[in-house]
Amino acid sequence: MKPKHGIPPGLWNDWRWQFGHRVRTADELAGRLALRRRERRELLDAARGSRTAVTPYYLSLMDAGDPRDPIRLQCVPDIRETRSPGGAEDPLEEQAHSPVPGLIHRFRDRCLVIATNRCAVYCRHCNRRRLWRGREVFLAADELETVAGYIERRPALREVILSGGDPLTLSDGRLKGILARLRAIGHVEVLRVGSRMPVVLPMRITERLCGILRAHRPLWFLTQFNHPREITPEAAAACERLLRAGIPVLNQSVLLKGVNDDYRTLRELLYGLERISVKPYYLFHCEDVKGGAHFRVDVHDGMRLMEKLWKTASGLCLPRYVADMPGTKGKVPLQPVSFL
Ligand SMILES: *Cc1c(COP(=O)(O)O)cnc(C)c1O
Repeated sequence: MKPKHGIPPGLWNDWRWQFGHRVRTADELAGRLALRRRERRELLDAARGSRTAVTPYYLSLMDAGDPRDPIRLQCVPDIRETRSPGGAEDPLEEQAHSPVPGLIHRFRDRCLVIATNRCAVYCRHCNRRRLWRGREVFLAADELETVAGYIERRPALREVILSGGDPLTLSDGRLKGILARLRAIGHVEVLRVGSRMPVVLPMRITERLCGILRAHRPLWFLTQFNHPREITPEAAAACERLLRAGIPVLNQSVLLKGVNDDYRTLRELLYGLERISVKPYYLFHCEDVKGGAHFRVDVHDGMRLMEKLWKTASGLCLPRYVADMPGTKGKVPLQPVSFL
């Protein structure tokens, strides 16, 4: 096989190589993008005090010379992150609903486990940026026991979501340990895994991983494609491997200014997802997270977009446009009001 981007395919297609070769510093990132001096200085400023990581694969999807490139906007630190006013550190008030470390319990029948604060790519629009402080860590054995104990004492909890960070940055062994522990709780009927790996590091979805996920069904896989250009043959193949293992794959996009906030782009994204058998589940209104103001779209513009899609697109590719409200209020549908 031909080398890809100058890398032998045996390495390029190995998730550990991709993970180990993530671009982690603003300096290195600046070198990969064709930046002018002022842009370079701004990138270094923007990256200070936050986290940066981009996989070689995700970097290869980018038009490096275009500052408005939708892939670049999602992963390259932007000076507006540091200059934007207001915004909350924890817009969903998750901290206040974390009864034990590593667990977020906002709704009666389901809860969320933070398996790690580590990601393959740090998305600039992340609403859990507060987890970027400090080192990259994962749920320790005693913490997992505490989390499992909490769930065990609450029979109403019928669904557990494994999230982070990205839980698939854990090794297969560790992941298997967590899934098995949660599966062992009698009243936990359904597991969910939330991961952006199919989008940013599709090589992570190995047959071995699919076997582990399969063994813990019913398990639903929630990912996050935000732009049609992310639906590459590699990403489609990763979703296909999950589907073949009997894992339903759903998508949760975030409506992001300059990335997917126009009708044609959004329609192309949703059609593309339908073609690869990934069901669009939610389209999230962008939260008022500190550092993310430049991504926010006016809610009325979002509703107009959804209304237009409603009138033209198949129900199979329509997500629910929602705003996740702080605390226990949850995901509130933002439906167009006109019935004409
Ligand atoms: C979003 C979320 C869920 C899941 O909500 P659904 O509407 O069922 O997808 C569960 N727990 C927490 C803490 C969440 O943020």
